[in-house]
Amino acid sequence: MANIINIIILLSVASKFNLSIVIGHFGYKKRDQHTWVKTYKLCGGKLQSPVSISSSKSIDIPLPALEIIGYHDYLPRPLYLKNTGHSVAMYINNHSRKKLPYIFGAVLNENAEYEIDHLHFHWGAKNNRGSEHILNGVRYPMEMHIVHRNKAYLNFSNAVNYEDGLVVLGIFFQLQEQNNKLLYPIINELTSVQWLNEEVKLSTSVTLSSLLPNNIDVFYTYKGSLTTPPCNEVVTWIIFPTPVPISFGQLNQFRSLSNGEDTLADNFRRLQDIGLRKVYVRRLNSFLFTKYNGTVFNITNLDWFFH
Ligand SMILES: [Zn+2]
Repeated sequence: MANIINIIILLSVASKFNLSIVIGHFGYKKRDQHTWVKTYKLCGGKLQSPVSISSSKSIDIPLPALEIIGYHDYLPRPLYLKNTGHSVAMYINNHSRKKLPYIFGAVLNENAEYEIDHLHFHWGAKNNRGSEHILNGVRYPMEMHIVHRNKAYLNFSNAVNYEDGLVVLGIFFQLQEQNNKLLYPIINELTSVQWLNEEVKLSTSVTLSSLLPNNIDVFYTYKGSLTTPPCNEVVTWIIFPTPVPISFGQLNQFRSLSNGEDTLADNFRRLQDIGLRKVYVRRLNSFLFTKYNGTVFNITNLDWFFH
Protein backbone atom coordinates (compact mmCIF):
# COMPACT_ATOMS: atom_id res chain seq x y z
CA MET A 1 0.00 0.00 0.00
CA ALA A 2 3.04 2.23 0.07
CA ASN A 3 2.37 5.49 -1.60
CA ILE A 4 -1.29 4.78 -2.19
CA ILE A 5 -2.21 8.14 -0.90
CA ASN A 6 -5.41 9.46 0.43
CA ILE A 7 -6.38 11.91 -2.21
CA ILE A 8 -8.78 14.66 -2.39
CA ILE A 9 -9.84 15.80 -5.78
CA LEU A 10 -10.76 19.39 -5.42
CA LEU A 11 -13.62 20.48 -7.58
CA SER A 12 -14.93 23.93 -7.18
CA VAL A 13 -18.48 24.69 -6.24
CA ALA A 14 -19.92 27.51 -4.27
CA SER A 15 -18.84 26.06 -0.93
CA LYS A 16 -16.58 27.52 1.70
CA PHE A 17 -13.46 27.51 -0.40
CA ASN A 18 -15.12 27.45 -3.77
CA LEU A 19 -14.45 23.73 -3.70
CA SER A 20 -16.25 20.47 -3.60
CA ILE A 21 -14.37 17.46 -2.47
CA VAL A 22 -14.42 13.98 -3.92
CA ILE A 23 -12.48 11.47 -1.93
CA GLY A 24 -10.68 8.60 -3.59
CA HIS A 25 -7.33 6.89 -3.69
CA PHE A 26 -4.62 7.16 -6.25
CA GLY A 27 -0.88 6.98 -6.17
CA TYR A 28 1.84 8.15 -8.53
CA LYS A 29 4.16 5.14 -8.41
CA LYS A 30 4.24 3.23 -11.69
CA ARG A 31 2.29 0.28 -10.35
CA ASP A 32 -0.25 2.63 -8.81
CA GLN A 33 -0.81 4.61 -11.99
CA HIS A 34 -1.69 1.42 -13.86
CA THR A 35 -4.55 0.89 -11.44
CA TRP A 36 -6.17 4.30 -11.90
CA VAL A 37 -8.26 2.94 -14.77
CA LYS A 38 -9.81 0.26 -12.55
CA THR A 39 -11.53 2.86 -10.44
CA TYR A 40 -11.69 5.66 -12.96
CA LYS A 41 -12.70 4.29 -16.37
CA LEU A 42 -12.07 7.59 -18.16
CA CYS A 43 -8.33 7.26 -17.44
CA GLY A 44 -8.22 4.55 -20.12
CA GLY A 45 -9.57 6.84 -22.86
CA LYS A 46 -8.00 7.86 -26.15
CA LEU A 47 -7.56 11.57 -25.42
CA GLN A 48 -5.47 11.35 -22.28
CA SER A 49 -2.80 13.69 -20.94
CA PRO A 50 0.06 14.37 -20.54
CA VAL A 51 1.78 13.77 -23.87
CA SER A 52 5.22 14.28 -25.32
CA ILE A 53 5.39 17.38 -27.52
CA SER A 54 7.88 17.82 -30.29
CA SER A 55 8.42 21.08 -32.08
CA SER A 56 9.11 19.39 -35.41
CA LYS A 57 6.01 17.17 -35.28
CA SER A 58 3.64 19.97 -34.31
CA ILE A 59 1.54 21.67 -36.93
CA ASP A 60 2.01 25.40 -37.43
CA ILE A 61 -1.26 27.25 -37.55
CA PRO A 62 -1.96 30.97 -37.65
CA LEU A 63 -3.90 31.14 -34.41
CA PRO A 64 -4.90 34.41 -32.79
CA ALA A 65 -3.00 35.35 -29.64
CA LEU A 66 -4.14 34.08 -26.26
CA GLU A 67 -5.89 37.01 -24.60
CA ILE A 68 -5.46 37.27 -20.85
CA ILE A 69 -7.81 39.58 -18.97
CA GLY A 70 -7.18 40.61 -15.37
CA TYR A 71 -3.90 38.72 -15.26
CA HIS A 72 -2.05 41.88 -14.25
CA ASP A 73 -4.38 42.60 -11.34
CA TYR A 74 -3.90 41.20 -7.85
CA LEU A 75 -6.21 38.26 -7.32
CA PRO A 76 -9.05 39.00 -4.90
CA ARG A 77 -8.27 37.83 -1.38
CA PRO A 78 -8.55 35.66 0.54
CA LEU A 79 -6.37 33.29 -1.44
CA TYR A 80 -5.73 29.83 -0.04
CA LEU A 81 -2.85 27.43 -0.47
CA LYS A 82 -3.62 23.79 0.26
CA ASN A 83 -1.64 20.56 0.47
CA THR A 84 -4.04 18.14 -1.22
CA GLY A 85 -1.75 15.11 -0.84
CA HIS A 86 -1.17 14.95 -4.57
CA SER A 87 -0.20 18.57 -5.13
CA VAL A 88 -0.20 21.99 -3.61
CA ALA A 89 -2.95 24.19 -4.98
CA MET A 90 -3.90 27.84 -4.79
CA TYR A 91 -7.57 28.71 -4.67
CA ILE A 92 -9.58 31.88 -4.60
CA ASN A 93 -12.40 32.30 -2.14
CA ASN A 94 -14.60 34.46 -4.29
CA HIS A 95 -17.56 34.98 -2.02
CA SER A 96 -17.73 38.59 -3.02
CA ARG A 97 -18.26 37.41 -6.60
CA LYS A 98 -15.57 39.69 -7.99
CA LYS A 99 -14.78 39.31 -11.65
CA LEU A 100 -11.91 36.86 -11.87
CA PRO A 101 -9.18 36.77 -14.50
CA TYR A 102 -10.21 34.99 -17.67
CA ILE A 103 -8.81 34.04 -21.04
CA PHE A 104 -10.10 33.85 -24.61
CA GLY A 105 -8.73 33.78 -28.15
CA ALA A 106 -6.09 31.33 -29.33
CA VAL A 107 -7.73 28.06 -30.28
CA LEU A 108 -10.77 28.66 -28.09
CA ASN A 109 -14.24 28.90 -29.57
CA GLU A 110 -15.33 32.37 -30.52
CA ASN A 111 -17.23 34.03 -27.66
CA ALA A 112 -16.01 31.43 -25.17
CA GLU A 113 -14.39 32.82 -22.03
CA TYR A 114 -12.56 30.72 -19.47
CA GLU A 115 -12.23 31.93 -15.89
CA ILE A 116 -9.50 30.86 -13.46
CA ASP A 117 -10.54 28.04 -11.15
CA HIS A 118 -7.28 27.28 -9.35
CA LEU A 119 -3.63 26.52 -9.99
CA HIS A 120 -1.39 23.71 -8.82
CA PHE A 121 2.04 22.20 -9.39
CA HIS A 122 3.70 18.91 -10.39
CA TRP A 123 7.36 18.40 -9.46
CA GLY A 124 10.09 15.78 -9.15
CA ALA A 125 12.18 14.43 -6.30
CA LYS A 126 15.19 14.95 -8.60
CA ASN A 127 16.01 17.79 -10.97
CA ASN A 128 15.73 15.68 -14.11
CA ARG A 129 12.02 15.01 -13.69
CA GLY A 130 8.81 16.59 -12.44
CA SER A 131 6.91 18.08 -15.37
CA GLU A 132 4.03 16.12 -16.85
CA HIS A 133 4.42 17.19 -20.45
CA ILE A 134 7.70 16.63 -22.22
CA LEU A 135 8.92 19.20 -24.71
CA ASN A 136 11.46 18.18 -27.33
CA GLY A 137 12.62 15.34 -25.10
CA VAL A 138 13.03 17.52 -22.02
CA ARG A 139 11.25 16.78 -18.78
CA TYR A 140 11.44 19.94 -16.70
CA PRO A 141 11.76 19.82 -12.89
CA MET A 142 8.31 21.36 -12.37
CA GLU A 143 5.13 22.22 -14.24
CA MET A 144 2.36 24.54 -13.10
CA HIS A 145 -1.23 24.17 -14.28
CA ILE A 146 -3.52 27.18 -14.27
CA VAL A 147 -6.95 25.59 -14.59
CA HIS A 148 -9.72 27.62 -16.23
CA ARG A 149 -13.42 26.80 -16.48
CA ASN A 150 -15.67 27.72 -19.39
CA LYS A 151 -17.90 30.49 -18.01
CA ALA A 152 -20.82 28.87 -19.82
CA TYR A 153 -20.80 26.26 -17.06
CA LEU A 154 -21.73 26.99 -13.47
CA ASN A 155 -18.80 25.38 -11.73
CA PHE A 156 -15.93 22.97 -12.14
CA SER A 157 -17.95 19.81 -11.45
CA ASN A 158 -20.40 20.87 -14.13
CA ALA A 159 -17.71 21.88 -16.65
CA VAL A 160 -15.96 18.49 -16.54
CA ASN A 161 -18.98 17.00 -18.33
CA TYR A 162 -18.40 19.00 -21.53
CA GLU A 163 -15.64 18.67 -24.10
CA ASP A 164 -15.10 22.44 -24.07
CA GLY A 165 -15.31 22.59 -20.28
CA LEU A 166 -11.73 23.43 -19.29
CA VAL A 167 -8.60 25.13 -20.51
CA VAL A 168 -5.37 24.44 -18.67
CA LEU A 169 -2.31 26.59 -19.18
CA GLY A 170 0.83 24.49 -18.74
CA ILE A 171 3.93 26.34 -17.56
CA PHE A 172 7.36 24.75 -17.23
CA PHE A 173 9.92 25.76 -14.62
CA GLN A 174 13.66 25.80 -15.18
CA LEU A 175 16.31 25.83 -12.46
CA GLN A 176 18.59 28.79 -11.90
CA GLU A 177 20.87 29.92 -9.04
CA GLN A 178 18.90 32.97 -7.95
CA ASN A 179 15.51 32.93 -6.34
CA ASN A 180 12.57 33.99 -8.48
CA LYS A 181 11.11 36.67 -6.22
CA LEU A 182 7.80 36.60 -8.07
CA LEU A 183 7.19 33.16 -6.54
CA TYR A 184 7.59 34.40 -2.94
CA PRO A 185 3.86 34.91 -2.24
CA ILE A 186 3.31 31.17 -2.82
CA ILE A 187 6.64 29.62 -1.78
CA ASN A 188 6.90 31.57 1.49
CA GLU A 189 3.68 29.87 2.63
CA LEU A 190 4.74 26.31 1.79
CA THR A 191 6.05 25.66 5.30
CA SER A 192 2.50 26.24 6.58
CA VAL A 193 1.09 23.44 4.41
CA GLN A 194 3.72 20.79 5.02
CA TRP A 195 1.19 18.18 6.04
CA LEU A 196 -1.71 16.59 4.19
CA ASN A 197 -4.85 18.73 4.01
CA GLU A 198 -3.20 21.72 5.65
CA GLU A 199 -4.41 25.00 4.30
CA VAL A 200 -3.21 28.56 4.75
CA LYS A 201 -4.42 31.98 3.76
CA LEU A 202 -1.80 33.78 1.64
CA SER A 203 -0.51 36.86 3.43
CA THR A 204 0.10 38.72 0.18
CA SER A 205 -1.82 38.55 -3.03
CA VAL A 206 -0.34 37.63 -6.36
CA THR A 207 -0.94 38.45 -10.00
CA LEU A 208 -1.27 35.60 -12.47
CA SER A 209 0.90 37.47 -14.97
CA SER A 210 3.81 37.29 -12.51
CA LEU A 211 3.65 33.49 -12.75
CA LEU A 212 3.60 33.36 -16.55
CA PRO A 213 6.64 33.07 -18.78
CA ASN A 214 7.92 36.21 -20.52
CA ASN A 215 6.69 34.96 -23.85
CA ILE A 216 3.14 33.73 -24.21
CA ASP A 217 2.94 34.51 -27.92
CA VAL A 218 4.24 31.06 -28.74
CA PHE A 219 2.32 28.05 -27.49
CA TYR A 220 1.42 24.45 -28.23
CA THR A 221 -2.16 23.28 -28.03
CA TYR A 222 -3.97 19.95 -28.16
CA LYS A 223 -7.09 18.24 -26.85
CA GLY A 224 -6.56 16.13 -23.76
CA SER A 225 -7.66 15.31 -20.26
CA LEU A 226 -7.22 15.99 -16.58
CA THR A 227 -3.93 14.32 -15.60
CA THR A 228 -5.41 13.11 -12.33
CA PRO A 229 -8.40 10.84 -11.80
CA PRO A 230 -11.16 10.97 -12.91
CA CYS A 231 -9.21 11.94 -16.10
CA ASN A 232 -12.13 13.63 -17.91
CA GLU A 233 -11.31 14.35 -21.57
CA VAL A 234 -12.45 17.94 -21.44
CA VAL A 235 -9.22 19.91 -21.43
CA THR A 236 -7.90 22.19 -24.14
CA TRP A 237 -4.23 22.29 -23.25
CA ILE A 238 -2.17 25.40 -23.95
CA ILE A 239 1.50 24.80 -23.20
CA PHE A 240 4.13 27.53 -23.31
CA PRO A 241 7.62 26.47 -24.41
CA THR A 242 9.30 29.35 -22.55
CA PRO A 243 9.98 28.26 -18.96
CA VAL A 244 9.70 30.32 -15.77
CA PRO A 245 12.81 30.37 -13.55
CA ILE A 246 12.94 28.85 -10.06
CA SER A 247 15.95 28.36 -7.78
CA PHE A 248 17.16 25.05 -6.34
CA GLY A 249 16.24 26.25 -2.87
CA GLN A 250 12.75 27.21 -3.95
CA LEU A 251 12.13 23.86 -5.62
CA ASN A 252 13.36 22.11 -2.47
CA GLN A 253 10.63 23.92 -0.54
CA PHE A 254 8.09 21.99 -2.62
CA ARG A 255 10.01 18.78 -1.92
CA SER A 256 9.76 19.33 1.82
CA LEU A 257 5.99 18.79 1.70
CA SER A 258 4.45 15.52 2.85
CA ASN A 259 1.58 13.60 1.25
CA GLY A 260 0.64 11.97 4.54
CA GLU A 261 3.02 9.05 4.40
CA ASP A 262 5.92 10.10 2.21
CA THR A 263 7.59 13.07 0.58
CA LEU A 264 5.23 14.79 -1.80
CA ALA A 265 7.20 14.73 -5.07
CA ASP A 266 7.22 12.87 -8.39
CA ASN A 267 3.52 13.71 -8.61
CA PHE A 268 3.44 13.55 -12.39
CA ARG A 269 1.46 11.16 -14.55
CA ARG A 270 3.27 8.92 -17.03
CA LEU A 271 3.06 9.88 -20.71
CA GLN A 272 -0.09 8.96 -22.60
CA ASP A 273 -0.35 7.99 -26.26
CA ILE A 274 -1.06 10.88 -28.57
CA GLY A 275 -3.00 8.44 -30.79
CA LEU A 276 -4.70 10.18 -33.70
CA ARG A 277 -4.44 13.59 -32.12
CA LYS A 278 -2.34 16.42 -33.44
CA VAL A 279 -0.46 19.05 -31.51
CA TYR A 280 -0.73 22.51 -33.03
CA VAL A 281 1.72 25.32 -32.49
CA ARG A 282 1.37 29.07 -32.76
CA ARG A 283 4.64 30.67 -33.68
CA LEU A 284 5.39 34.35 -33.97
CA ASN A 285 5.83 34.22 -37.72
CA SER A 286 2.51 32.58 -38.45
CA PHE A 287 1.00 33.73 -41.68
CA LEU A 288 -2.67 34.27 -42.41
CA PHE A 289 -3.52 31.03 -44.10
CA THR A 290 -1.75 27.77 -43.85
CA LYS A 291 -2.12 24.39 -45.40
CA TYR A 292 -1.65 21.02 -43.88
CA ASN A 293 -2.15 17.96 -46.03
CA GLY A 294 -4.19 20.10 -48.39
CA THR A 295 -6.51 21.39 -45.68
CA VAL A 296 -6.82 25.14 -45.48
CA PHE A 297 -7.48 25.99 -41.87
CA ASN A 298 -10.29 28.35 -41.27
CA ILE A 299 -9.51 29.79 -37.88
CA THR A 300 -13.03 31.11 -37.35
CA ASN A 301 -14.40 27.59 -37.53
CA LEU A 302 -12.53 25.35 -35.15
CA ASP A 303 -14.40 22.15 -35.94
CA TRP A 304 -11.13 20.71 -37.24
CA PHE A 305 -9.66 21.14 -33.77
CA PHE A 306 -12.47 19.66 -31.81
CA HIS A 307 -13.15 16.69 -34.09
ZN1 LIG B 1 -2.06 19.32 -13.01
